[in-house]
Amino acid sequence: MNHILPALDSQVAVVGGGVAGIWAAYKLIKAGIPTTLITYLDKDRGGIQGSTHRSVGAINTSSLTNDDFASYMDDLGRKCAHPFVTQALQQYLKDEIDELSSLVALKAIKIGLALESESGKSFLQYMYELFESLGGRIINAWVTRLVIDKNICQGLQYEKNGYIGKLRCRAIILASGGYAGLYSNSINTNCFGTMLGRFMECGGSATNLEFLFKHGYGNIDTNDLTPTEEIAGAEIYDKNKSRVVWLEKMLFDGQGTNTHLQAVNFWTSNSHMDYSIDLSYRELYLAIFKFNSAIQNTYTQPNFCNKLIPLYKDALENFLTNFPENARIEVSHKIISTDYPQVINYDKFQDLKKLFSVENFRLFQVKPITYFSMGGIAHINCRTDLKNVYVTGECMHDFGANRVGGLPWALYLANGRIICEHIVKQLKEHEKQLDFEIVFQKSHFSGELLKEIRGRLYEYQNKNKNETQALESIQWFRETRSTLIQNNESLSDSFAWLIVAEAIMLSSLSRRESRGYFLRSDFPFENVNLDKYLSYLWYDQQVNIVKSRFLEASYFSSSLDNFV
Ligand SMILES: Cc1cc2nc3c(=O)[nH]c(=O)nc-3n(C[C@H](O)[C@H](O)[C@H](O)COP(=O)(O)OP(=O)(O)OC[C@H]3O[C@@H](n4cnc5c(N)ncnc54)[C@H](O)[C@@H]3O)c2cc1C
Repeated sequence: MNHILPALDSQVAVVGGGVAGIWAAYKLIKAGIPTTLITYLDKDRGGIQGSTHRSVGAINTSSLTNDDFASYMDDLGRKCAHPFVTQALQQYLKDEIDELSSLVALKAIKIGLALESESGKSFLQYMYELFESLGGRIINAWVTRLVIDKNICQGLQYEKNGYIGKLRCRAIILASGGYAGLYSNSINTNCFGTMLGRFMECGGSATNLEFLFKHGYGNIDTNDLTPTEEIAGAEIYDKNKSRVVWLEKMLFDGQGTNTHLQAVNFWTSNSHMDYSIDLSYRELYLAIFKFNSAIQNTYTQPNFCNKLIPLYKDALENFLTNFPENARIEVSHKIISTDYPQVINYDKFQDLKKLFSVENFRLFQVKPITYFSMGGIAHINCRTDLKNVYVTGECMHDFGANRVGGLPWALYLANGRIICEHIVKQLKEHEKQLDFEIVFQKSHFSGELLKEIRGRLYEYQNKNKNETQALESIQWFRETRSTLIQNNESLSDSFAWLIVAEAIMLSSLSRRESRGYFLRSDFPFENVNLDKYLSYLWYDQQVNIVKSRFLEASYFSSSLDNFV
């Protein structure tokens, strides 16, 4: 016997309470639209979900300052970014940042702004309280079914503490996060793309699912990433104890962020090797960094000649304290090789190691870690191809094939405004809310199936398996889905994951090239014929298979308005 909760009504339902969902919900409630935010805050579906609560909330503001932001986006997305992103950021970001800064404190950082608290988690807590104080409703529950199609939006079904509920609504905003968690080497944000699968099940389409940003320095033991600022000065070894000197040099020279792609490429193309990072000389690196900064500062000061010698002496004295007393004279000789003070470079760093006494040995194994997804639900200006269904957040992450520091938050702020303006115009008072029947089926979370799917996707994309093995996996995804249908288990999360996994595998197979973080050993170069083409995927419910093709990016441009 299933327990049923009383039916609820709301003009709009927002699925997912990360930065994207809460910002859209906040804009709507402020505009006077009755809005319900439904988000899952418990742990029993793979752990606490969501990337926002792990983020520091960095916001890239280059769209407001870069005169040629369109080219910047083109380059960043390796010509596969969604055509809407540039315009959305240029048109709306400024106002949304103004609004955000009237609510929470922001601080300046290199790429723009960030939450002063550096805590996405406390930001969400604050926004939830604000949203409720303005009359919004929040439900902590798991959405198991969307009742939507090309012609009508009726609502959604959910589960809460073992009870089944339904929420009738006239518009749905999908803000349920990404699908990076479908890879066995993913960071622990536990986002498995379940709602993306549900959306495709209802006839909606997706784009560019093969693109995921991979962090170059995942820690194998903790499945977490190591910020590149924390590994400058590292020694990098393979299992034969050979050093990866070119990468060490780049990190030493402060090119941390720029090394991700090279590092991922290198670890992936040498996947038979294990690599470790040794941070034993990190303290020495930090001392060198301080010394070099002091010298560089001296050169930039007016009358630097007069100030040079005393400041240099101070910097040198401080630096020497990092070495045992009996080594200091030799260290000075190694550093003072010319009349003018010089910075200590990578080679000299290696030389100085012999005189440094290591106190803390810090070694960990490193690998690429799947960080966040960059494809997702297909849309034009946040409108999907299903009636009154909108999308925002990593659920539609449309930046293309390369790294996108701070742009996600920027875009999700702009999206909240775009969606709100559209809904306010679109929803007419006299349109009646339609009812729908609940499906009396419980949704299960199968850790076993998730493990199998994650292993298969990881094997193909990160270990350079061949097309035959990919096709074999696609067959397995289909058959496993058929079994779930036969067993009356299609509301289980695994059913949705299997749709997404098949779609990722198909789009990865059809993209016969390497582009940004999407790497194929059998097609190692970018294919210019695929510039400005997005992979396009949809699920054919009749035959229970996912289909794919390529579409020109301009198909999704708002001026053409292919989605009505
Ligand atoms: C460690 C880390 C740091 C980052 N730092 C930055 C940064 O500084 N700046 C930046 O721009 N980007 C950053 N990113 C990327 C960015 O933070 C994410 O893309 C963004 O937070 C995603 O927000 P979202 O609202 O789309 O989804 P999420 O924050 O992932 O939230 C999705 C929510 O949907 C809920 N949900 C999913 N399915 C269901 C369902 N069926 N029923 C009910 N609820 C459901 C989940 O429980 C979750 O709460 C970072 C990412 C990571 C992992």
